Amino acid sequence: MKKLFLCLLIPLVSFANPIPLGHPNKGRLEFGRNLSRLIKENSEILRSVSPIEFQYGTSQMAAALLEIGTWGSALQRVPVWIGDISKKQGRKLAQHLTHQRGLDADIAYLVHVPKMTGHRFNKFHNRFTEQFGLQGKLGENFDLEANYQLLGHIVAELEVTSVYVGCGIYDALETHDKKQTVSIMKNIFAQKGHEDHFHLRLKCPQGVPQCSNNWWTDPSKTHKKKKKHSASASEKYRDC
Ligand SMILES: [Zn+2]
Repeated sequence: MKKLFLCLLIPLVSFANPIPLGHPNKGRLEFGRNLSRLIKENSEILRSVSPIEFQYGTSQMAAALLEIGTWGSALQRVPVWIGDISKKQGRKLAQHLTHQRGLDADIAYLVHVPKMTGHRFNKFHNRFTEQFGLQGKLGENFDLEANYQLLGHIVAELEVTSVYVGCGIYDALETHDKKQTVSIMKNIFAQKGHEDHFHLRLKCPQGVPQCSNNWWTDPSKTHKKKKKHSASASEKYRDC
């Protein structure tokens, strides 16, 4: 009887499903899955540019990365470079406000020719090598069509709350988007600091009530802060 119990217990422990908890900016991860291993096992479509300890995530993130690699492959722009996701147990990661629950990932833009060295090449994490959309120039190596297609798949086919791209990149994507019959821009936002990668945020998986898609605000500080004049409903978030 004891043996049977152990046989049943061991698979449960080793395959425990990752559970994201809390808010995007204040959360943690239980049973975080090693996505660095997943990336390595799929090296024809994905490439890691962050250390193992910064690449843990949920099952949904694992599936999303494989989809992204597959779309990158169809666009002949692989491997897709994957940077920071989360620590094994989540919580604060380096300078990031988010990346606390295995639901956020930093991913390089698709380029015509991958640049093997560059501005963050020697860093510990997020070793991205090229920035785009600065000083009014998108950059010749930025594959606008391929990035537009990839982001289109991401927002349409994954359970995404938001995608953040650099401001100049956003403007180029938006110009391209206006020529299309259906817009993909609803959940894509301009935010400075995303010149060398885009930030993907997945929704909380269903059935996890302790996981919130909403931002956490410190209740002890809210009364001191003057309420910001709220943007009109038609005004889109933009941090440039
Ligand atoms: Zn990020």
